[in-house]
Amino acid sequence: MDGVVVVFDFDKTIIDVDSDNWVVDGLGATELFDRLLPTMPWNTLIDTVMGELHAQGRTLRDVADVLRAAPIDPHVVAAIRAAHSLGCDLRVLSDANRFFIEAVLDHHGLRGCFSEINTNPSRVDADGRLRIAPHHDFHAGPHGCGLGTCPPNMCKGQVLDRIRASAAADGGRKRFIYLGDGRGDYCPSLRLAREDFMMPRKGFPVWDLICENPGLLQAEVHPWSDGKDMEETLLRLISRVLVEESTLLPLDCKLESLPVAVHDGMPMPLGVKN
Ligand SMILES: [Mg+2]
Repeated sequence: MDGVVVVFDFDKTIIDVDSDNWVVDGLGATELFDRLLPTMPWNTLIDTVMGELHAQGRTLRDVADVLRAAPIDPHVVAAIRAAHSLGCDLRVLSDANRFFIEAVLDHHGLRGCFSEINTNPSRVDADGRLRIAPHHDFHAGPHGCGLGTCPPNMCKGQVLDRIRASAAADGGRKRFIYLGDGRGDYCPSLRLAREDFMMPRKGFPVWDLICENPGLLQAEVHPWSDGKDMEETLLRLISRVLVEESTLLPLDCKLESLPVAVHDGMPMPLGVKN
């Protein structure tokens, strides 16, 4: 089946902060975090800080409570719901961890909108301590991406290639829209195809990297700056793909529920009255 796959980064894309920093600060571990930061990879550091917080008597519930208070723009929530209701296949691709992401998505009733969460695995050990492991086990060997902007525990470009392969398994034509803000989102942006769309957050590291050499990207680039901007841009692109792929007629009633700003200016195919 043809369709649109929307891939969301999590930190500073779905939520407006970095979830790791948000939890560390919210549970009073900032000083410990800053002291350990120069000594180990980020992914190992978060696991270590979680161990220290557990030793201090902080529970999983404390961690989840802090995550539930993480700021999320209502326009982002609306954008995710609308994209899902329009039949898009939504995925998370994040260098945070499964526990943090699921706590936030559950709290906002969004988890069911996503078909897959690609991130660093987490588990709770017998003592009730949250353990966070790398998505790619770099102790066993490097992930092999030579771009230089991917952290050792995750090359998002390689994960995107896997998502593309799995999405294509049913034989349909899939077009991708990728949203992200960080350095780690640059590698996947280079792997998007001509008919795909990259939505970098304006003024953030991925935007700066793209601007250094825009010709390296095949996909069309549509920057966004805040939640309202993201909602309008994403829904405009989805509408455009649905029209271009000539699937408008069965979706006619759904498209009418799009915000006016999106509906206006949308190219209408011949024979369909607005
Ligand atoms: Mg991010």
